Amino acid sequence: MIKRGRCALTLKGFEGFLKAGEIARGARRFAASLVESGVSVFELCERVEDYIRRMGGEPAFPCNVCINDVAAHYTAKPGDTLEIPEGSVVKVDLGVQVDGYPVDTAVTVVLDDRLTFLKEAAEEALRRALKTVGPGVNVSEVGRVVLETAKSYGLKPIRNLSGHEVARYNLHAGLSIPNVPSYGGKFKPHRVYAVEPFMTTSEARGLVVEAGAPTIYRCISYKRVRDRYADMLLKKLWFKFRGLPFTERWFRKMGLKPKLVEAWETVKKLKMVRGYRVLKEASGGLVSQAEESILVTEDGCIELTGFLE
Ligand code: MN
Ligand code: MN
Repeated sequence: MIKRGRCALTLKGFEGFLKAGEIARGARRFAASLVESGVSVFELCERVEDYIRRMGGEPAFPCNVCINDVAAHYTAKPGDTLEIPEGSVVKVDLGVQVDGYPVDTAVTVVLDDRLTFLKEAAEEALRRALKTVGPGVNVSEVGRVVLETAKSYGLKPIRNLSGHEVARYNLHAGLSIPNVPSYGGKFKPHRVYAVEPFMTTSEARGLVVEAGAPTIYRCISYKRVRDRYADMLLKKLWFKFRGLPFTERWFRKMGLKPKLVEAWETVKKLKMVRGYRVLKEASGGLVSQAEESILVTEDGCIELTGFLE
């Protein structure tokens, strides 16, 4: 854990976040060590999630592996045959929760030395952004720093992807942390935020669009439905994940009966379930990302997963 500034904050009440942060630190290192061309994305996701469970946490969301112009929201589907291509830019974005307290972190692995600047730019933007964070600081300050860093590398931030506040069983709680200067609120002490600059090339449009079917879902509410099996499944998903994201790949591990797995086709169309479609850079630009979760203190912040250590 890196503490910036004097930390007068008692960490009591934040044990879940701190433990999740420690697990995420190891999981991110492990994930990065697995990324090589030809590796199965299915295997990669499963191994990262198993690591998290083995260390005493739960995945706060399915492990995301996003390649080249895919920026976010891709996790392996059941039976997925996708492999990491040669020379690609790979983002592994993972979440860990302990007692419902989630942390969110991501790392870029570049399999072509000529593209290392993409990874470095995202990390440098994150480093500079975290130096500015503290209570009362406007989130727009992060956007300003990210944009400035992007320009210094001859790159562009993705303007419609942003960081976010996190809270218990809630990955996107309230405040968004922009990657370009824009209006927004202020960081508050004793709150946890994920800061996540995304970079793309200067010729690219610098924004993401939805592409492809969802691989990640979330229950946003629960009320009884008429179909018996659909109701059983929805109820299970609602009480197990409590609003955190999940994926079809996990159904087998949950030991769901075949009738319940079949009911998924009905359940995923309900308004109470939201699917997250894969997000790609609009013009096919390569995308890099660096993400850290921070706890804002009275005079700075604590980096929960030690990204910049
Ligand atoms: Mn993330
Ligand atoms: Mn995030």
